[in-house]
Amino acid sequence: MAIKATTGPVDSSTVTAALTSATTATPSPVPLPRRTRENPESESEILPPLDEAVTSGGHSFAKPKLRLEIRDLDHPGAAKFLSAVNSATVLSTAVNNVLRLLYRSPSDKHTTVPPTRSVTLILRDMGGVAYTTGIDLDSDHKEIHFSLSYINSISPPSRLTHEITGVLTHELVHCYQWDAHGSCPGGLIEGVADWVRLNCDLSPPHWKKETGGDWDRGYQHTAYFLAYLEHRFGKDTVRRLNEKLRQHRYAVETFWPELLGQSVEELYGEYVEYEKNKGEVDDHE
Ligand SMILES: [Zn+2]
Repeated sequence: MAIKATTGPVDSSTVTAALTSATTATPSPVPLPRRTRENPESESEILPPLDEAVTSGGHSFAKPKLRLEIRDLDHPGAAKFLSAVNSATVLSTAVNNVLRLLYRSPSDKHTTVPPTRSVTLILRDMGGVAYTTGIDLDSDHKEIHFSLSYINSISPPSRLTHEITGVLTHELVHCYQWDAHGSCPGGLIEGVADWVRLNCDLSPPHWKKETGGDWDRGYQHTAYFLAYLEHRFGKDTVRRLNEKLRQHRYAVETFWPELLGQSVEELYGEYVEYEKNKGEVDDHE
């Protein structure tokens, strides 16, 4: 689930299918002008028109080109993937959910959608679960590498669709979230990704609220903390947090007080207390 800075080697037996295009032939990439994330207005001017749109709240988000690459069709994980999800729609549905939760609508003046232009899902035999990376030429083109061995290991088989969709949703958040110009703590990055997964009702059965440890342990631990903040400070809290990660480099001393009026240690302490009291009430019921 980590974000990696480099791409993996290309396997010569690659099978590629361009899902949103009528042709599987992908033209050679042309070097694109380098764009800075500090200046989103100029980005929108030079982006080409996009052929499809994601609608949310009656408006349309620019939708990326989506591709699927299966590097080993003989791997048992490939057959499981293809039978468990609709390959033509699973990515676009997940993109829609990520955009809806992090940006609400394209006309929302308070958030800025990153200029992600394409996402390629690469299924290959590798260790771990999945990771997301930008390509060297242009980081607006993302690759999600997803382990066929992991897909093959998902048990029981009835969990395949839910788990695959959950992992893809988590990785697609990495394609669309802001990271404070690379300075955001990894735990917060992973927490936002799992907060989106949580809000799509795609959490796996082993997730549970554990309030021990630090607020930025990442993944579901930080995701449940973010869910508490959203509950306490309102529905826009994580969207505002994400937007703030676009605007400035991250500094823990100022980030949280500016966003929510308190230090993150205070907020996390109140979350732990809230969960403890809730548990005691539950015990008496
Ligand atoms: Zn991740």
